[in-house]
Amino acid sequence: MFLLTNKIAVVTGGGSGIGKEVCLVLAKQGAKVYVLDLNKEQGEATVQEIEKNGGQAKAVAIDVTDQAAMKKTYVEIGSIHIMVNCAGISHIGNAINTSQEDFEKIFNVNVKGVYNSLHAGIPVMQKSGGGVIVNISSVVAKVGISDRFAYGMSKGAVHAMTLSVAKDFIKEGIRCNSISPGRVHTPFVDGFLKKNYPGKETEMFEKLSKTQPIGRMGKPIEIAHQVLYLCSDEAGFITGSDYCIDGGFTTLNS
Ligand code: NAP
Repeated sequence: MFLLTNKIAVVTGGGSGIGKEVCLVLAKQGAKVYVLDLNKEQGEATVQEIEKNGGQAKAVAIDVTDQAAMKKTYVEIGSIHIMVNCAGISHIGNAINTSQEDFEKIFNVNVKGVYNSLHAGIPVMQKSGGGVIVNISSVVAKVGISDRFAYGMSKGAVHAMTLSVAKDFIKEGIRCNSISPGRVHTPFVDGFLKKNYPGKETEMFEKLSKTQPIGRMGKPIEIAHQVLYLCSDEAGFITGSDYCIDGGFTTLNS
């Protein structure tokens, strides 16, 4: 089950955290994985780990906000069966104290970056006879979380883009779904704590862990396994769906 033999996958943000684990799992199941990441060293480290385990991968240092570069890369890859849009950045602030500059930065990476990947990748996927897209959203698109104005905006847009793509390309054999993780322990969370709660990282880590009713943060592999399922033929009836993987955050916090 869940074999991806002869499939070609592209994963944005594949150099760290959830994206990295997605790359490792897809490669383990037989896909050739293109690891797209802003950070060259991190992307190459993911590739090395895949190759060490006997898998196939290639790193591409790229900024998802650069549409021309995304188009060039996807055209050069030539055939795409699986696309996972994972690259993303965080932000803290409400509608008043979020600056225009920060709003645009979040929009550019988290919204335009996903659009660029879809815009450039879907035509290649069409030529490849169809495929599967998984966009990484967040629980913040489902429930109000304090001080996530710009970030929440961006993840709400990821939901809407997922539904639009699922509808528009259903007859061409393209499935498109999203995953909304709760807090997952990655460098993203560590960086967020360091930047926003300097000196109080441990205290805040405990606090954030407890906001999941299950009592801990998620692990990147727990998201990657859902990505694998959605990308597999076993999930062939699933499109236009979103999956909260959140330790009960959206449903059990009363
Ligand atoms: P992460 O560890 O920070 O990994 C994100 C990767 O994306 C990093 O390698 C980062 O490179 C790369 N990246 C950032 N901007 C990029 C750009 N413009 N072009 C190409 N690559 C870029 O984050 P993560 O925790 O795995 O999060 C992955 C996704 O899950 C994000 O979309 C995030 O919003 C979402 N998510 C995370 C959580 C969580 O709790 N971790 C919860 C819900 C949703 P650099 O290291 O160079 O910045």
